[in-house]
Amino acid sequence: MSVSRIAIVGAGLGGAAAGALLQRAGFTVDIFEQAPAFSRIGAGIHMGPNILKIFRRLGIEDALLAMSSHPDFWMSRDGASGDYLARIPLGDFAVKEYGAAYVTVHRGDLHALQIAALQPGTLHFDKCLTGIEDDGSGVDLRFADGTHARADIVIGADGINSRIREALLGEEKPNYSGWVGHRALIDAEKLARTGFEFEPCVKWWSADRHLMAYHTTGERNEYYYVTGVPHPAWDFDGSSVPSSADEMREAFDGYHPIVQALVDCTVEVSKWPLLNRSPLPLWSRGRMVLLGDACHPMKPHMAQGAGMAIEDAAMLTRCLQETGLGDTETAFRLYEVNRRARASRVQAVSNANTWLRTQEDPAWVFGYDIFEVPLRDEVAA
Ligand code: FAD
Repeated sequence: MSVSRIAIVGAGLGGAAAGALLQRAGFTVDIFEQAPAFSRIGAGIHMGPNILKIFRRLGIEDALLAMSSHPDFWMSRDGASGDYLARIPLGDFAVKEYGAAYVTVHRGDLHALQIAALQPGTLHFDKCLTGIEDDGSGVDLRFADGTHARADIVIGADGINSRIREALLGEEKPNYSGWVGHRALIDAEKLARTGFEFEPCVKWWSADRHLMAYHTTGERNEYYYVTGVPHPAWDFDGSSVPSSADEMREAFDGYHPIVQALVDCTVEVSKWPLLNRSPLPLWSRGRMVLLGDACHPMKPHMAQGAGMAIEDAAMLTRCLQETGLGDTETAFRLYEVNRRARASRVQAVSNANTWLRTQEDPAWVFGYDIFEVPLRDEVAA
């Protein structure tokens, strides 16, 4: 049996950030991940200035800047007419106003960068957590391969179907939101042959659906779209199923010719259920604490779900630095006090799918610096 001071379950974007931040803060950390390895699955992701400031502390900001696209604007456009509904300045404006860049990138490339920031030998693959017990003096973790580990505290960064959440609050499936997301990566050369101009970061909207598109590399040779489309029930097995260009054509019939041309360039597209949960009544108990999608999953429409997981990781690190491992009760209370309001607000706005649809000031999200905000000990009145 291995013994570690802090065990993190799940090495997604939140768990990897927590591991690297806590290790840099001097804690002994092991990360247990169920997957046998990570691969470059076909998806993009936005990372806002609020997160780039955290990556700066981790020493991976420059590498991320080099591999990512830096759009000058987030454009919102009417799906049918193409009229501009909002032009949210990013680019140099974001660097000046919010203290860091706004980037879009391939999710797998970002994740690989985060994984490389972990101390060698501390990420353990093929460790699917099947059982967990807090006996008051430590936590026992049991894995599907028959091995065990013991830790002083356990961070549940194991995503929307978290086993740690289940240990704290009991079994409960996430809610299906009634919408699916389609995801596809498109070769930019193919797009160029259509004769249309594809903007670096644009969301096309209509009453009940949308399509968001952006580049995923610094060379802008790869373009990505992700949708939100109503679908009565998720009646498929697994976390995603293949979709098709024909299904996309049907879903976006009547949309602008640029969207039609993008859809026509689709080779492979997958379809994902958009899931969420109501805010949880507790974020920790005893020696176990939650972060990211394990704690506050949301529909992805603010492009801040992983951002909130990474902010959680940074705040939890700050709080554990404040108290040490001797008083984790205080650390976990401080963590929740300083995270719940912001994470729940982002969760609500994201679920409502209103973010940047019309011209608005995003400073409360992008301008936030988790290392600079004063630590509060009580919920604000
Ligand atoms: P996850 O990324 O789900 O990671 C959980 C990890 O735990 C996984 O590696 C999993 O294998 C592991 N695990 C699970 N169970 C176990 C177990 N029993 N034992 C061991 N390991 C386990 N967010 C953004 O910030 N920007 C975006 O642009 C964006 N776009 C999105 C688009 C779509 C279509 C969707 C669905 C989401 C999007 N998000 C975005 C949200 C983002 O993907 C999630 O919020 C984020 O991945 C949550 O990170 P996490 O580390 O909490 O969980």
